[in-house]
Amino acid sequence: MRIREIVITGSPVLHRAAEPVVHIDDFIAELVDDMFATMERAPGVGLAAPQVGENLALFVYDWVDDDDRQHRGVAINPTLVMDPLLIGPLDYEEELEGCLSVPGERFPLRRSHRVVLTATNLQGNEFTVEATGWLARIFQHEYDHLLGILYVDRLTHPYDREALDAVSESGWGEPGMSWLPGRDNLEG
Ligand code: ZN
Repeated sequence: MRIREIVITGSPVLHRAAEPVVHIDDFIAELVDDMFATMERAPGVGLAAPQVGENLALFVYDWVDDDDRQHRGVAINPTLVMDPLLIGPLDYEEELEGCLSVPGERFPLRRSHRVVLTATNLQGNEFTVEATGWLARIFQHEYDHLLGILYVDRLTHPYDREALDAVSESGWGEPGMSWLPGRDNLEG
């Protein structure tokens, strides 16, 4: 198990749709192990394979809710069904999102309050999770990664502009940039 470099916005692997996982083999098992370790070290609550440079449709998540319940898993070849977005002003505190591939930045974004995730686990079994609130947000964020969409791509005015400025001020937005959790002092 090793900590992997996290790819930063601008690298093509983050901006294209991921390929389905065909075989859940040792390569996938090791990748998942590494992704959990990398996510923990970052730290983060979700990590998608493209973020460690692998163009594969899988993500990991690990989040503890307000009732101390842990939500942890691997979602391989997931599908996501979302409730419609609610209309209304953004709540800057409650809807603030970040991403390990746009490290150190946070912007508010409207997400669906409830989703149903269906995916395959490491044992090859299909599972379904109905999620609300923050877990629903994590699933939407990670699922977007597999479509080649970053949360900053979805921001609305004026946060879309602020994010563009932040990315350009950091010198990101070009291929080949990454950071290593534990070595580089960046946070998602
Ligand atoms: Zn992300």
